[in-house]
Amino acid sequence: AYGFSTVSGREEKQARVDEVFHRVAGRYDLMNDLMSGGMHRLWKNAMVAWLAPSRRPGWRFVDVAGGTGDVAFRIVEASGRQATGTVLDINGSMLAVGAERAAKKKLDANLTFVEGNAESLSLPDASFDAYTIAFGIRNVPRIDKALDEAYRVLKPGGRFLCLEFSEVDMPFLDRIYEEWSFKAIPAIGEKVAGDRASYEYLVESIRRFPNQANFEAAIRKAGFERVTHRNLSGGIAAIHSGWKF
Ligand code: SAM
Repeated sequence: AYGFSTVSGREEKQARVDEVFHRVAGRYDLMNDLMSGGMHRLWKNAMVAWLAPSRRPGWRFVDVAGGTGDVAFRIVEASGRQATGTVLDINGSMLAVGAERAAKKKLDANLTFVEGNAESLSLPDASFDAYTIAFGIRNVPRIDKALDEAYRVLKPGGRFLCLEFSEVDMPFLDRIYEEWSFKAIPAIGEKVAGDRASYEYLVESIRRFPNQANFEAAIRKAGFERVTHRNLSGGIAAIHSGWKF
């Protein structure tokens, strides 16, 4: 229901997203800090804290749209370096930065970097204890397909967690946030990455993404149970959680 209905619309959206991340891969982590004022680190930590990764050897996760590995590194660390994970992303440039960072952090034995599409995962059924996706699902043209795939690759008892921009639910904050996103973010994009249009596009994609309640409904539709969400920073971002039983 939220996706792009025509094939060419979908392809155009994905091509646009791919182009943006190829271009920014090398500066992606810096841009994240600048644009969120460092908040993305706290939000990612909140997601990993809610996940509470197991320290049981053999516990496996997949971080989809995992980009430069930020979430995966946190999960492995929180598991006492026991967890093993797959970082999957459609963009080889982002994964290359991630693999290099993993080697530097000596986390490369725990992680596998795989190029792939969230809409059709090249991963076996029922093979992961957790599926995470941070600031990624908004970029996927067919969200419902990505959610079906999340359900498919999780083991029974597996956990789905998604961190994404959401709908601000605090008076005043919503106005400040609008100013920040529609004016400051494209301006930073222009100054730091020399690319205003891409960042305008990213802000627009945040505005179009379903709000907390509608996204919960989409997650339930894919088969997940005990679906809930937690708002972060007054709803600027939200973490959605669901279980496969
Ligand atoms: N999860 C990382 C983080 O939080 O730092 C990266 C988030 S970044 C904003 C979005 C990522 O989604 C990009 O690396 C992009 O290549 C990836 N992406 C976009 N469309 C995708 C798709 N259809 N399947 C898998 N990954 C996709």
